[in-house]
Amino acid sequence: MWWSKIINIFHIHSYSIPIVSRYISFNTRDIVYECKCHKRKIIRICKPSDIPFPIQTTYFITKEELEKIANK
Ligand SMILES: [Zn+2]
Repeated sequence: MWWSKIINIFHIHSYSIPIVSRYISFNTRDIVYECKCHKRKIIRICKPSDIPFPIQTTYFITKEELEKIANK
C-alpha cells in the first residue's frame, strides 16, 4: 500500500536489537544497535553494576571495527 512506504520513510528509528558490544569501562559499553529497518547506531550504555548488559561484551574489538559494523 502507498502509505506503508511513507511510514517506512518517516518511521522513528527504534534501535532495539543489540549487535555487538565493546568494552569502555567497568559499567560502560559502546553497543551497536539495529533498527527493524536495518539502520545501525552506536549507543553508549552506562549501567548500575547489578544490571546485566543486553549483550555479551566482545573484547579486543577496536573502535574502528565497531564503527565499520555500525556503518555496514
Ligand atoms: Zn529504522
